[in-house]
Amino acid sequence: MEAKSGYVSISTENIFPIIKKWLYSEKDIFIREIVSNACDAINKMKKLVSIGEVDLPNEEMNWKIEVWLDKKKKTITVYDNGIGMTEEEVLKYINQIAFSGVKDFVEKYEGKTDESQIIGHFGLGFYSSFMVSKKVEIDTMSWAEGAEPIHWESNTGMDYSISPSKKINKRGTYVTMHIADDGKEFLDEFKLRETLKKYFSFLPVDLCLIDANEKKKDKKEETEEDKPTTINDPNPLWLKNPSDCTDEEYKEFYRKVFLDFNDPLFWIHLNMDYPYNLKGILYFPKLKLPYDSLEGTIKIFYNQVFVADNIKELIPEFLMLLKGVIDCPDLPLNVSRSFLQDDDCVKTINSHITKKVADKINGLYKTERESYEKYWEDINPFIKFGCLKDDKFHDRVKKSIIYKTTDNVFLTEEEYLDSIKDKVDKAFYYVDNVAQQSQYVKMFNDSGIKVFVMDGPIDVPFMQMIEVKSKEKVRFVRVDSDVANALKSDSDKSREELDSIGTSLEEHFKMASNNEKLKIKVENLKSNIPAILTLSEEGRRMQEMMQMYGAMSMPMDEDMTLVLNAENPVIEHLYAIKDDETKKDDLELLCGQIYDLALLAHKPLEAEDMTRFIERTSKILAMVSKKEA
Ligand code: ADP
Repeated sequence: MEAKSGYVSISTENIFPIIKKWLYSEKDIFIREIVSNACDAINKMKKLVSIGEVDLPNEEMNWKIEVWLDKKKKTITVYDNGIGMTEEEVLKYINQIAFSGVKDFVEKYEGKTDESQIIGHFGLGFYSSFMVSKKVEIDTMSWAEGAEPIHWESNTGMDYSISPSKKINKRGTYVTMHIADDGKEFLDEFKLRETLKKYFSFLPVDLCLIDANEKKKDKKEETEEDKPTTINDPNPLWLKNPSDCTDEEYKEFYRKVFLDFNDPLFWIHLNMDYPYNLKGILYFPKLKLPYDSLEGTIKIFYNQVFVADNIKELIPEFLMLLKGVIDCPDLPLNVSRSFLQDDDCVKTINSHITKKVADKINGLYKTERESYEKYWEDINPFIKFGCLKDDKFHDRVKKSIIYKTTDNVFLTEEEYLDSIKDKVDKAFYYVDNVAQQSQYVKMFNDSGIKVFVMDGPIDVPFMQMIEVKSKEKVRFVRVDSDVANALKSDSDKSREELDSIGTSLEEHFKMASNNEKLKIKVENLKSNIPAILTLSEEGRRMQEMMQMYGAMSMPMDEDMTLVLNAENPVIEHLYAIKDDETKKDDLELLCGQIYDLALLAHKPLEAEDMTRFIERTSKILAMVSKKEA
């Protein structure tokens, strides 16, 4: 061949600013591109062998990619024993960057090869190497018969010279990058290894990193031990047939990839061939409280090359709480992200994943209810979030949603409705603070009504959604919102009598509570406590919402109702002494104490109220002691 030099055609000036901008955020992309090209070249060669175009002896099929780091010379060299290039191919594919070598290859072998197997097309390509290099050399020799070794080099990416190569004498390619100051961080072995691991932990071809300076020191024959260890696992678990994978393998893969040493709860092996090719494993991690710090990781691969974590256009938002890997060679990953949103493939994949997750949840619910209940604590925020975000997901899993009661029993909507079918009250009673609301819970449980625990941050919007979707068939009511019929017992007194007790004691309680707007109601309660406070569900939700949006909200107390227990001896006593001038102090003391007790069961007392409460309690204790004496 004749040595040549010249200028690379095509508008490199237009390409560089784009590449530079990209590299600004993801400088390590040049590694991904050059090593991907090497893998691509090997895949092409393998294809030629498999379709019978070339016949190779076995020893020539030890496919490998080597990355040589030479700190002294400040070079990084990527070697592959793939397809190689002829002089024409170098001129065409390397010089004319707009030309896609893959496209050409596919056209040539159309029908004989599976296009989706060919790696490439991240949109940047070989030229990204110039962003970190002051000079790039290629030494390559094509697989084709009679091919000559070719040397190509360029200092800027715009000029080039081409001549016979002295570095290579068999099929394959060396790409040598003379690293400029811009890229010197990659001359650090640790950094380079981490970058290779990041993108190529699961590359289908063996990949190793070699320290060129170390190698040169002793030129003795290489023993088995000297062989560099491969960086990658060319057969990742997601490519295996799900029925051939053991639980231990899934767990080990999880630990290795996500460095999470808590075992995952369970997992889903995705394996779709039609209409798109998609493989992967999704793990449900054991969640740690608090939920708001939750963040999953879904790693996206493209033919076993890592692309990015958590591409949100691709994965349903609610799945972001999970951990997993997804490999999808059919994705148009070379196009801009905004394009992904309207892509049919993305939509299909999205709904396929959603369906698989719903199937898994339903399957667990149906066949392993006991373990499912154990998982519930961990998976419920995820499922609820999914239901809120995606109607279809909710439709699929709604029969598997369970609610935990205060006594640790799990019931579905249907089971609960069934348990209260002979009760008057049809609401779903719940607490959002088990300890604080225990007095109410006891009253409900005593009347045979179970109370749900809805204390997660996602529970409030979730309950609202269920109410809307069930068209009011399901209504969630916090235990302290109203006096449920179930808590009342028949009274000898008429409604008028009860009301008149209320009217006559109203002023005393308003004074004792220091709340002019306090409402008083009198009922006959099954419990033996003198009074309870209620705050309507709607009123409370409204206030919570306003607080959430930072609006000034009226103090809760304005909507409170104090429900007096008509047949409680203390209330009866109060009623008896209400007009007795000599018992005025007792009356005030008792009203204050009854109100504070009711308030205590409702929410924690504020500092001032607490001081008053303790003082008053001491006074009552003294009074009782005096009587005894
Ligand atoms: P792309 O890989 O997207 O086609 P690149 O700019 O990375 O774009 O590479 C251009 C072409 O150069 C490739 O398609 C391929 O034909 C050729 N090429 C690059 N690296 C190698 C290699 N290591 N071995 C053989 N051919 C290569």
